[in-house]
Amino acid sequence: MDIYNESGYAIARLRIEESDNNYNYIVWCTETKECAVIDPIDPITILNFIRDNGLMVKYVINTHCHPDHISGNDPILKVSLSLRSKALVHPLGEELIGTRYGTVNDGDVISVGKQEIKVIHTPGHCPEHISLILGNNVFVGDTLLLSGCGNTRHRGVVEDLYQSVSKLRELPDHYRMFVGHDYAEANLKFALDIEPENEDAKKKLDEIEKAVSQNKEAPPTTIGEEKKYNPFMRYDAKEVVGELKKRNPELETADSGSVFKELRELRNEWTY
Ligand SMILES: [Zn+2]
Repeated sequence: MDIYNESGYAIARLRIEESDNNYNYIVWCTETKECAVIDPIDPITILNFIRDNGLMVKYVINTHCHPDHISGNDPILKVSLSLRSKALVHPLGEELIGTRYGTVNDGDVISVGKQEIKVIHTPGHCPEHISLILGNNVFVGDTLLLSGCGNTRHRGVVEDLYQSVSKLRELPDHYRMFVGHDYAEANLKFALDIEPENEDAKKKLDEIEKAVSQNKEAPPTTIGEEKKYNPFMRYDAKEVVGELKKRNPELETADSGSVFKELRELRNEWTY
């Protein structure tokens, strides 16, 4: 687990063992101790953390309703003392979660203590997907991953995912990106398969491999860093476009959306 202390709020990032390398997050107002839990899969670890730090759950926020992002909702809401606490999801995910929930839309602001979390609708990985902005941090769920993006196998639409990634790419470079899963190693190897000369991807892969060998967590990256090596944010970089056209001459006159789609298809089939 790692904790990021900021002015007025803090973020705990928990990497969950025995999961698909899921990350769970707890964000809280350091003044009021009110917290929100994002995408819980391991309620016991989360509830222990909440108790040990004297926090009160106001919301569980689900970036989307895939089972591995909502399965911890009910146990957390059941033991949280406040009746006001509930899960928040985008309306398109309403039918997929249990009781005690509310809905949030693009542009809404969620108050947690004195802190405000802004909602952006980022469909594509699935229709109800939202991303969350708190200070200079963005919680992207499975829309983006370190050097990758989510797949579209379960209710996804690749054209929407392209639009959402494009939207997130417009965020300030210094925004720290908190992702739903750690697939960093495989994703960086894929990036290097597309762009073998990308020095930033090589450097990042070295950093990640070193952290893994020392049993340490790699810190979250930033939007600016990702733009240097994440192929799904480089759909208009000449190196990426050139390589894809080489592989598939039919892409000769392709727009960025088609390049993105081709990248997603290549990644679906790629193994290392
Ligand atoms: Zn998912």
